[in-house]
Amino acid sequence: MLRALLLAPPGAGKGTQGELLAAERGVPHFATGDMLRRHVAEGSDIGTRAKAYMERGELVPDEIVNQLVAEAIGGDQPLDGFVLDGFPRTLEQAKLAYEWGQANNRTFNAVVSLAVPEAELVRRMLERGARDGRSDDTEETVHRRQMVYDESTKPLLDFYRERAILVEVDGVGTVPEVADRIRAAIDALAATD
Ligand code: ADP
Repeated sequence: MLRALLLAPPGAGKGTQGELLAAERGVPHFATGDMLRRHVAEGSDIGTRAKAYMERGELVPDEIVNQLVAEAIGGDQPLDGFVLDGFPRTLEQAKLAYEWGQANNRTFNAVVSLAVPEAELVRRMLERGARDGRSDDTEETVHRRQMVYDESTKPLLDFYRERAILVEVDGVGTVPEVADRIRAAIDALAATD
């Protein structure tokens, strides 16, 4: 059963590829950014606390995100399989997820990193901002989010490389091309059965 994580900078296509991968493998897809945006739209307690961070392009505090994910994949009957996109994003989150996985016999078995050059990321996000009106896809916030990724999330690549579950995929190409590469890379990792 696939328990995968998509680890990539903002604009790399995590959401699109995460949904495709989850549908193909018959597991649910959880995107913390989407979950948080739903809370903001509903005006829930979590949404109220998260909103300002998201608008500045900063990370929402670990405790909020950890709770959201724990409710989604944990609970009385932890899920066997899932695709997570946008979590973990800090070493703290990664350590917590790893402890949860060990305690529940459900450590991640594939971490997909999508590599896309920064200029292409910025171009895609500004295009998305103009098309979908996502309020954090403005020029200033886009740069801030790239910096936050480099500082807080990039170190996770080493964390998962050491655990031998990291696959690095070229994220430049059409959606089906990138999906093919992800499929091939995951199939090459024996542990996902
Ligand atoms: P992107 O990867 O393009 O930044 P997301 O939808 O994944 O888009 O995330 C949007 C925002 O939601 C982030 O900038 C951050 O504020 C918040 N967020 C999402 N996931 C996390 C997380 N795991 N930890 C902290 N903040 C998060």
